[in-house]
Amino acid sequence: SKGAGQGHIQTYTAEVGVATRERTRLLHGLQQAFDRENLFVVYQPQLALASGRVVGAEALLRWRTEDGRFISPAEFIPVAEQSGLIVPIGHWVLRTALRALVRLRQDQPDLRMAVNVSPLQFAQPQFLAEVEAALSEAALPADSLELEITESVAVMGIERVSALLGQIKARGIAVAIDDFGTGFSSLSYLDRLPADRLKIDRAFITALDAGDATARIAEMIVPLGHRLGMQVLAEGVETASQAQALRLLGCDEVQGYLYGKPMPLDAFTAWLAQRQGG
Ligand code: C2E
Ligand code: CA
Ligand code: CA
Ligand code: CA
Repeated sequence: SKGAGQGHIQTYTAEVGVATRERTRLLHGLQQAFDRENLFVVYQPQLALASGRVVGAEALLRWRTEDGRFISPAEFIPVAEQSGLIVPIGHWVLRTALRALVRLRQDQPDLRMAVNVSPLQFAQPQFLAEVEAALSEAALPADSLELEITESVAVMGIERVSALLGQIKARGIAVAIDDFGTGFSSLSYLDRLPADRLKIDRAFITALDAGDATARIAEMIVPLGHRLGMQVLAEGVETASQAQALRLLGCDEVQGYLYGKPMPLDAFTAWLAQRQGG
């Protein structure tokens, strides 16, 4: 009936209103957190699977509120992207992570740092120039940095993405395709994304223990990446049996709670020293 229809519309509108207010509140809080230095970066180790050697770290953003609560990136990154705030924040993460890498390379000189880049950041005309400036400011070689992009960068047009990746590669900066297997139409343009590394999303790694159809996907991504000339890294490895399955598949690198959680820089340095000692 007409009445029921109107009721539905009213409810829907009210829900949208709440969602918008919630987003606005989050955005305001995030802007303040950025201004008040309540954002910080943690580092999660990445290891070569065959040797167990630590080869790098991924920089992950954290927000700690004034009253000591943590807000998950899954909650605030989308808001930062919608508002454009991800551009200055992402640049700050990059510079912070590179400074951390300078310190980490005092203990292990060949370590690399992986930094997440949102599609909006990637599409900024000055993006590559800013990355190069950050590298030279830290006096780090280009190949010590890996930019993690997702298949969603394709929204800016595959031609533009392909050209920009070519320029990034020409500078010697490494590129990883993050969350692989979770986006759409990935296979149709995967050969047009010149990347060094393919990161298999955690969803497929979790499935390895179940051994179901989803696990078959993880098994296929390893040879797919290799055929396209990329190294393959498995994300979210939590169990020894997942690691063993990945070893049999010939997966190159791993990252996950089984090896190390994301840690503040001091904890990462201590963790690294302890591993090298024993
Ligand atoms: P991501 O890039 O896929 O990062 C991996 C996520 O998996 C991280 O979540 C990490 O803490 C988590 N993780 C790692 N190993 C394990 C494991 O063994 N088990 C489980 N359950 N989780 C594991 P986090 O730190 O909450 O970040 C979530 C997402 O937020 C990231 O996913 C990334 O998309 C985004 N993000 C984080 N920092 C940044 C940033 O600086 N810039 C941008 N643009 N996005 C970021
Ligand atoms: Ca990532
Ligand atoms: Ca990922
Ligand atoms: Ca993810």
